[in-house]
Amino acid sequence: MRRISIFGATGSIGESTFDLITRAGGPQAFHTVALSGGRNLARLAQMAVALRAEVAVTAHEDALGELQDRLAGTGVQAAAGATAIAEAADRPADWVMSAIVGAAGLVPGMRALAHGSTLALANKESLVTAGPLLMATARAHGATVLPVDSEHSAIFQSLMGEDSRAVERIILTASGGALRDWPLEALQNATVQDALAHPNWSMGPRITIDSASMFNKAMEVIEAKELFGVRPDQVEVIIHPESIIHSMVGFHDGGIIAHLGMPDMRHPIGFALNYPERAPLPVARLDFAKLGQMTFRAPDLIRYPALRLAHEVMVAGGLSGAAFNAAKEVALDQFIAGSLGFAQMSHLVEASLSALWAQFGPTDAIPTLEDVLAMDDLTRRTARGLAAKNS
Ligand code: NAD
Ligand code: MG
Repeated sequence: MRRISIFGATGSIGESTFDLITRAGGPQAFHTVALSGGRNLARLAQMAVALRAEVAVTAHEDALGELQDRLAGTGVQAAAGATAIAEAADRPADWVMSAIVGAAGLVPGMRALAHGSTLALANKESLVTAGPLLMATARAHGATVLPVDSEHSAIFQSLMGEDSRAVERIILTASGGALRDWPLEALQNATVQDALAHPNWSMGPRITIDSASMFNKAMEVIEAKELFGVRPDQVEVIIHPESIIHSMVGFHDGGIIAHLGMPDMRHPIGFALNYPERAPLPVARLDFAKLGQMTFRAPDLIRYPALRLAHEVMVAGGLSGAAFNAAKEVALDQFIAGSLGFAQMSHLVEASLSALWAQFGPTDAIPTLEDVLAMDDLTRRTARGLAAKNS
């Protein structure tokens, strides 16, 4: 029986993964090793019992007692804290879903790869902060990384059976997020509520706001470069408001292969769960006649400074991705808390990167995990310091 673990089981991707696993037979079809979650202990315990998991882990040490109470007599062990999550990732599993949000997803994913597990990677932050290290770890242990981000799953599927040397460009589609039709001047007044109204995709709150600012797409550009080993200038972004084409690959004979479907994350999650087979999935089918048309427009780099920053980060390389992600996480925290305006998020990220680039020169060496975590920490302190100075 295939052994699986889900990190970030109680989130949006985690729930969709749980849904597919349950439909496929749950404990009759899979042996569940570990599930992790945050403060939603009732749901974490419920999922762990339903799948008969070996262990359920909450990220919060102070929640251990309550989780133990909820799991008493069920046969599921309870654990808590970041170290316990990492240890849960050391338990042998064949397929591991990485669906924690933020840089906290890096360590469990790295541990799973070091054990040779197939990593279904939703946590794009892992590739933005430590792409070269993550991919090298996978290669060294014969582990497979399967992208779950819809764009990257689309690219992966478009590349199946193709010669990677024939790839000319990767074209990521972007919905444009909740604020894409707002006048530029109005963006600075956008509230959290405004940014959360995504037109097409139902996702966790942080990635939804990142979609409105295009920080999500900026991260995905870096993610694509790391996953598919292309140069920064080979990754393009096009705004496609309908989100029907999930992304495309252009080859050097001028042909383009695109991946299409209704926007539903259960497609890329299910693809990664069943790979290399294509199993039937419970997603809505695309009706072209109903759709009528698909539209496209170029992204405006003045409106979306995050895209320009992503390019600078890719060119600079080294620990720049770790700094970019950490500064973005701080900016997003402050926007959610109401202490930073929507348009100020990119200013804070840019100022943080400039401060760090002034201290660290470019490097060709692949950063270690310790380097990445230290840069994450330094950048968070730098960004918070800059934000405090400006407020
Ligand atoms: P979410 O906020 O809905 O869920 C996040 C999960 O991570 C929850 O289980 C939460 O308890 C856990 N978590 C949060 N902080 C944690 C921490 N510090 N330590 C341990 N666990 C923690 O997020 P989501 O939308 O499901 O996104 C998860 C990841 O997948 C993100 O990296 C996101 O960018 C990526 N992703 C999501 C979607 C989507 O449709 N939701 C699409 C593509 C990629
Ligand atoms: Mg995506």
